[in-house]
Amino acid sequence: MKHVILGNGPAGVIAAETLRRAAPADDILLVGSEDAPPYSRMAIPYLLEGNIDESGTWLRKSPGHFDRLRIHEVRGRAVSLDSDGRRILFDDGHFESWDRLLIATGSHPVRPPIPGIDLPEVQTCWTLEDARAIARFATPGARVLQLGAGFIGCIIMEALAARGVELTVVEMGDRLVPRMMTPQAGGMIRKWVEDQGVRVVTNAGVSRIDCRASNDAPLDVTLSTGEVVVADLVIVAAGVAPNIAFLESTPVHVAKGVLVDDRLETSVPGIFAAGDVAEAPDLFTGAHLVAAIQPNAADQARVAALNMAGHETRLKGVLAINVLDTLGLISSSFGQWWGEEPERGGAGVEHVDAAAYRYLSLQFKDDVLIGATSIGLTEHVGALRGLIHGRVRLGEWKKRLLRSPLQFVDAYIARSQQPMALARSQ
Ligand SMILES: Cc1cc2nc3c(=O)[nH]c(=O)nc-3n(C[C@H](O)[C@H](O)[C@H](O)COP(=O)(O)OP(=O)(O)OC[C@H]3O[C@@H](n4cnc5c(N)ncnc54)[C@H](O)[C@@H]3O)c2cc1C
Repeated sequence: MKHVILGNGPAGVIAAETLRRAAPADDILLVGSEDAPPYSRMAIPYLLEGNIDESGTWLRKSPGHFDRLRIHEVRGRAVSLDSDGRRILFDDGHFESWDRLLIATGSHPVRPPIPGIDLPEVQTCWTLEDARAIARFATPGARVLQLGAGFIGCIIMEALAARGVELTVVEMGDRLVPRMMTPQAGGMIRKWVEDQGVRVVTNAGVSRIDCRASNDAPLDVTLSTGEVVVADLVIVAAGVAPNIAFLESTPVHVAKGVLVDDRLETSVPGIFAAGDVAEAPDLFTGAHLVAAIQPNAADQARVAALNMAGHETRLKGVLAINVLDTLGLISSSFGQWWGEEPERGGAGVEHVDAAAYRYLSLQFKDDVLIGATSIGLTEHVGALRGLIHGRVRLGEWKKRLLRSPLQFVDAYIARSQQPMALARSQ
């Protein structure tokens, strides 16, 4: 049996290793399209801060790791797929055949169609190559304009601050992290970063980027408000899109990402998908969802690989979890953080302590917690995750939480830990 894994990010690597354990005699081909050993994008901020060098981003550090596991590594970019003939065409013109295929090609940053977006001083922050370019331009005192304040935009602020740049953040939404945080939480994160010297412009986009004549200020960045901001570097953090171009005109069903079932199999038997590229059933609604975070990539890769090896395994369902460190302020959002309509059993509660940067929003459907947003409650996010992921029936605790939301740890212990403790003592 020959398994081909397209993509050597966290999903691809974990799938290859899981396959090796589950199918010791099978052939495994791991294909990566970048000029680097398998690495973790999550580590890029640490690289930019200077805490690690490039080898610190590598997913597996011991030399010969993949050889020892008889995982054959290949460099190449898949450009098209023949699902009937079970072959993939690569950009160098060669074909590879497979018995089982895993699509783990991740996603790429979106570059909005703005005049000047392809200038060398305009960079995304996604690959090691991007990080090298940012490091060249983001020198102490450099004027950096960041376009977008979503998940990645907020994560990289710390690294930019550590490099001593003068940062302006421009966000289309009315607050920071608008697709993951409530208005209150987004507002608190904004205040936090502004207090640390970052300039934030919301409800605005970038209309054009022009080169200046003078050398010390290469770019004029015109905002949709008409304001012109001078910048040495523009970082585009305006969202990502799954890498699915090579699936065009194939029977593999795609929506936003590659649609998979709870075994991570696509619409074509024998072809699986995992990680940022996959759109898997949501834990609560069963609707398909791209949850582009590394723990999801790892979970999905394990399940996909076990099924590829013939061990029937199902994913419980994707829970969207985002934990953000924005210049030292930890925030998180879980599941359906925006809540549910009251006529569908929805109810919610907020606790706000703006002075202490502590915040909690709990969202219920009937007596189950379906979503939450938090700031500054780092030590207890495990309990929030446990309540939501476990779909714990809160019973009487729902009323208590609506009155005193911070009691969620007690609710977690009472409603999910106690039965286990009782079972253990019997
Ligand atoms: C700066 C930054 C910080 C982040 N911080 C966090 C964080 O704190 N927490 C968190 O959970 N997540 C974080 N993420 C997101 C996380 O990195 C991704 O969720 C994770 O990398 C997904 O893994 P993946 O294997 O699905 O995709 P990827 O890591 O993107 O790997 C996909 C691989 O496929 C290759 N590929 C693409 N197209 C093709 C093709 N046509 N043919 C062959 N190969 C191809 C790519 O080159 C790449 O090597 C961060 C991302 C960035 C950029």
